[in-house]
Formats: sequence, structure tokens, C-alpha cells
Amino acid sequence: MNVLIPADTIRERLDALAIQISQAYEGKPPVTVVGILNGCLMFVADLVRRIDLPLRVAFITASSYRGDATTPGKLVIHDGLLPDLKGRHVLLLDDILDTGKTLTRVVSHLIDLGVASVKVGVLLRKIGRQEVPFEPDFIGFTIPDKFVVGYGLDFDDEYRHLPYIGVLEGKE
Ligand code: 5GP
Ligand code: MG
Repeated sequence: MNVLIPADTIRERLDALAIQISQAYEGKPPVTVVGILNGCLMFVADLVRRIDLPLRVAFITASSYRGDATTPGKLVIHDGLLPDLKGRHVLLLDDILDTGKTLTRVVSHLIDLGVASVKVGVLLRKIGRQEVPFEPDFIGFTIPDKFVVGYGLDFDDEYRHLPYIGVLEGKE
């Protein structure tokens, strides 16, 4: 495993992101942080503890089934864990922006649920892979086009527990 982003670098960046986010929501109605499971696990847990504002935490699930040569990939959204978000200000958090398809779909799903506003934060943004235009409001790190794991990100549900972001050998 090659360490791409060490744990202490993640911590420092989260301190700065939390300040940016707190400034964006200060004096506004309480925000509902919505994490996209499972990858958002560490990011949400570590970020919300740094935000000193009234807020709610909720989760949504988005699973993508990568297509093969003949069938396109399919994204399934499960919102059964969400409270009623009608009229709420939402900060949507995901682990990584890759093609942009997941976030585009989840944002339009939240809009359909009647949210008052939605901003998006990603821990990682991969360069050179985006297929749909999408601009997050908050970005932790910009990374090269490598398959990364750790800090919530998995390969076959393994490696999520690592405290750092690593590049999986053989997947480079
Ligand atoms: P998108 O819809 O932007 O293509 O994909 C976003 C999702 O793909 C992420 O939430 C994540 O689950 C998965 N993904 C994209 N790139 C990587 C990566 O480098 N490592 C891991 N573990 N997952 C990735
Ligand atoms: Mg994910």
C-alpha cells in the first residue's frame, strides 16, 4: 500500500474545511449534513465534530453497479434512512468525486424531496475522470487518477478502516 494522504494531513485539511463550512452556514438555519454511505463514514464523523454550529446528521445510500461492455452502470439510491428533508438546508458529503454521476443523481434526488438548499462537500476529487459537469462547494484534496482506498473508501468492502488514503498496489 502506498500512502497518498497521511492521517495527519487529513486532520489538518479537515480543520480548514470545517472553518470554511462553519463560515458558510453561520447565522443561517441549522444545516442537515447528509452523508452518502458507506464511503462517507470517516469523513462525516470527523468533519461534523469540528463544526461548532447546530446541525443534524443523516445518511443516504447510493450503490453503483458498474456496467459491462453492453449494459451501462446503474445507480440505486436508498433514502429510507433519511428524515423528512422538506425545507431543510442540506450539506451533502461524499468520499470521492470521480465521474460525477453519483453526486449529480443524489443532488437531484434531494431537490425532488423539497430541500431548501443543497451544497456539496467531497473529501477527494479525482482529476481527469469527470464525465458530467459538477462543481462541489467544498473539496478536501485533489488527487491523480489512481484507485484509492482507506479512510472510508473500499475495495470489495475491505480497507475502509485505514486511517490514511492509500493507493492499492496492482490497481494503479
Ligand atoms: P462517480 O459517480 O463520481 O463516478 O463515483 C463516485 C463513487 O465511486 C464514490 O462514491 C466511490 O464509491 C466510487 N469510487 C470512485 N473512485 C474511487 C476510488 O478511487 N476508490 C474507491 N474505493 N472508490 C471509488
Ligand atoms: Mg461511495
